[in-house]
Amino acid sequence: MTFINQLPEWTEASQTLDRVSLLAQRVVTLGGVKRLESEALFVSSEGGGTLRETAKVEFAGCERYWWIARKVNGIVRRVMLAGLRPDNCTVDIPCAQCEVCHLLGALNTDQNVAVFSRVRLQDLISVQEYVYDEKFRVRLPDDPNAKNPTPFQEVIVPPGTEFSFIVRIIGASRRDLNLFLYANATADSIGYGNYSKLRGQATTDWVFAADGMAHLSAYRLLNTQRTEGTSITDQMSSFAESLSREKVAHGDEWRNEVKRLSENLITMKG
Ligand SMILES: [Zn+2]
Repeated sequence: MTFINQLPEWTEASQTLDRVSLLAQRVVTLGGVKRLESEALFVSSEGGGTLRETAKVEFAGCERYWWIARKVNGIVRRVMLAGLRPDNCTVDIPCAQCEVCHLLGALNTDQNVAVFSRVRLQDLISVQEYVYDEKFRVRLPDDPNAKNPTPFQEVIVPPGTEFSFIVRIIGASRRDLNLFLYANATADSIGYGNYSKLRGQATTDWVFAADGMAHLSAYRLLNTQRTEGTSITDQMSSFAESLSREKVAHGDEWRNEVKRLSENLITMKG
């Protein structure tokens, strides 16, 4: 038994949830490591040339691959929409009414409604150092009769690259955890690639869930990994062990719970 069992089953939709009242809600923090199983390209800006480069950032002592949270959010949202099929809600025009919008937020300019996202993902920063490795590639034309393949270059994130993954869910219920963990696992297997050849499949190792904001710093995790060689999974585990038992879920018990919550969407009332 962990604190997860004491979470409400369901979070009621509330139109009054604004930026300030969000702070009064119960927060659950999830800590894990996302690992790329196939190469990926996370471009931050699309240049006009034939070179596409994945984004990087100087962080915790070196240059690292930078995976902007918004890109993960986008795929997670698509998976949730495909699973729940709410009426009149799409990625481009969110309805601001349904369960997906209630969890991931929405801005509907037609109706002038904004719903704050209750899921907050930190940008994902790689454990491994960024390496500039330009790959020369050829794009085959869509038309099989066309004669000229187009050459281009790519700087990608290699498979095996790991990222710290810290997520906070505001006003969290067990249903929210189920929705998010299911959508994340499905998104991982579909992949986060922008282009058909770069699938960007991943796996997530969820190390712990903590009751509260759990002040865990990606900067410190990555810096300690670099200077002391301690894996960030081990660091997250010791962090989880430092919390009082009623405030955290980790180890085998949590991993089994994650497996259960990730496998499918549990059918709910209404
Ligand atoms: Zn919606």
